[in-house]
Amino acid sequence: MTDRRADIVANIQEVRQRMQKVTPSGQQPTLVAVSKYKPAEDILAAYEGAEQKHFGENYVQEMVEKSEKLPRDIAWHFIGNLQSNKCKVVAAIPNLYAVETIESAKKADALNKACVQVSRENALNVFVQLNTSGEESKSGADPESCVEIAKHIVENCPKLTLYGLMTIGAPDRDTNGGENPDFVCLRECKAKVEEAIPGSSMQLSMGMSADYEDALRSGSTNIRVGSTIFGSRPVKQ
Ligand SMILES: *Cc1c(COP(=O)(O)O)cnc(C)c1O
Repeated sequence: MTDRRADIVANIQEVRQRMQKVTPSGQQPTLVAVSKYKPAEDILAAYEGAEQKHFGENYVQEMVEKSEKLPRDIAWHFIGNLQSNKCKVVAAIPNLYAVETIESAKKADALNKACVQVSRENALNVFVQLNTSGEESKSGADPESCVEIAKHIVENCPKLTLYGLMTIGAPDRDTNGGENPDFVCLRECKAKVEEAIPGSSMQLSMGMSADYEDALRSGSTNIRVGSTIFGSRPVKQ
């Protein structure tokens, strides 16, 4: 194994160990390895050396190219901004596991329609992305609208499966020793949605390299970890 491959495998193993330490017993959160800007070889190193199956990508073209090259049992998570005119390309990836960034009923409709157009076989898992920090720069719907969008998906989008809620949250949130308010907010939205839609059960996608342990303590079931596994990325201009 090259040093690069060995490093990636060791990093994943360390994240998994840390996950286990802070996860309430009986729960098995999903580790999504965020591989944006990183070459397919890095993903293969994680897949072969650490049996890592879930990977997250932010850019449609990059995800399409990697998904064509890489093993078909990889579970891809789309975690970037999804433009309506890209929904068809995304929906056509057979081993796409989830789109985590549905921020409106309109976007859900566009993705649902795309699934029909490409004759996607299985319903596609979606997370409703909520802007829990209220920052202008962050995408995601107002948390107040979580029930409305969730209900819309369940009632009007048969090709989508309402799978959970997702937030990015503010960086370096001052939590004053308490829980991160972004995580608390997402958890409260989960309770509201589950109450409004009987029988539903929402996954919580929250926590990245800097704060995944806190997120797990706050009830995250799906963490998205990039730089801790694959190293730093070029800064986007
Ligand atoms: C890039 C990205 C991540 C991973 O961030 P790291 O800090 O490198 O772990 C997680 N979630 C989203 C939505 C991202 O865009």
